[in-house]
Amino acid sequence: MKAYSVAIVGATGMVGQEFVKVLQQRRFPIKGLRLLASDRSAGRKVYFSGEELPVMETTNKSFKEVEIAFFSAGTDISASFAPVAARSGALVIDNSAAFRMEQNVPLVVPEVNPDDLRDVPVGIIANPNCSTIQMVVALHPLHKINPIKRIIVDTYQSVSGTGSAAIEELSNGSKLVLEGKTAIPHVYPHQIAFNILPHIDVFLDNGYSREEWKMVQETRKIMHAPGILVSATAVRVPVFVSHSEAIHVEFAHKISPDEVREILAAAPGVKVQDDPEVSMYPLAWAVAGQDDVFVGRIREDVSCDNGIAMWVVADNIRKGAALNAVQIAEKMIGMGLL
Ligand code: NAP
Repeated sequence: MKAYSVAIVGATGMVGQEFVKVLQQRRFPIKGLRLLASDRSAGRKVYFSGEELPVMETTNKSFKEVEIAFFSAGTDISASFAPVAARSGALVIDNSAAFRMEQNVPLVVPEVNPDDLRDVPVGIIANPNCSTIQMVVALHPLHKINPIKRIIVDTYQSVSGTGSAAIEELSNGSKLVLEGKTAIPHVYPHQIAFNILPHIDVFLDNGYSREEWKMVQETRKIMHAPGILVSATAVRVPVFVSHSEAIHVEFAHKISPDEVREILAAAPGVKVQDDPEVSMYPLAWAVAGQDDVFVGRIREDVSCDNGIAMWVVADNIRKGAALNAVQIAEKMIGMGLL
């Protein structure tokens, strides 16, 4: 089997560290791994497959002979360096929002639209937003059988979605509040400990936040369904890992909760966990570290015709970021495209 020369940009971050873990766990065929971050981390060491590898500063010269470059260092870094990496011959799989809506950049969830990987005109593939990935993995198998007309989704997103500094803000803030002290926010606009913030990313002129609007646009692009109506409310909750979503879907035709369970039980990347009688439903804590998207609380949405409501949970760092990106590369290898 061919082995690849791989780079991770943002290797010291939350998602970057998960890349290191996922590549090892899945025995991704690697012949060389270049760990890249800012100049602040240059010289740090990271273990990979029993070897100590140095972290290097990201520069225009970092991508020489790299075949696959996973980017997770934020939108600005991707905008500056992803085209450089692609021009030097690497396939870029980018976790940021820099290129997701560009027409010549495929936006891919391997369980949903793998065929979009056949056309990568500028050498860049975008990994969708974490909240969108888990939603489309759960909804696409249903949409193929019974077209979806409308989605209402409320998210309960963990702080790991904001990176390592947010993990610290929740830990330290929780301690301070329990000691009766004031937790001054730095990462978020308000205290996150013991609180819930209906605010993720900046607000747009239409009143939605950019995170909410990403869910509208990305869902339509990934599912090739420009007509699907989506309304999202994105909420940050004091949970470390895993995003949870309450999703209400209106289908073209009637579908029963049992049919939904049956379709999802056979769907790739989905685990149905649905027995409320014994308090069994997906939980953020239990789903952290798992690969699948977990679905439960499947029931009829009695507020509309042909409606289904469900609860969908996934590890946002894993399926919502690093794992999905690695699965894109694996899919391309499997399809003979890389
Ligand atoms: P993070 O923990 O804050 O890590 C940021 C990473 O970017 C660090 O490795 C940092 O390196 C690196 N970086 C910062 N400035 C840089 C520069 N000038 N040049 C090169 N590298 C630089 O953030 P994260 O949660 O891993 O997220 C990273 C990216 O993934 C973001 O685009 C985010 O939107 C995306 N993403 C995150 C999630 C999630 O759930 N967390 C999900 C999907 C996508 P230093 O250590 O040297 O500063």
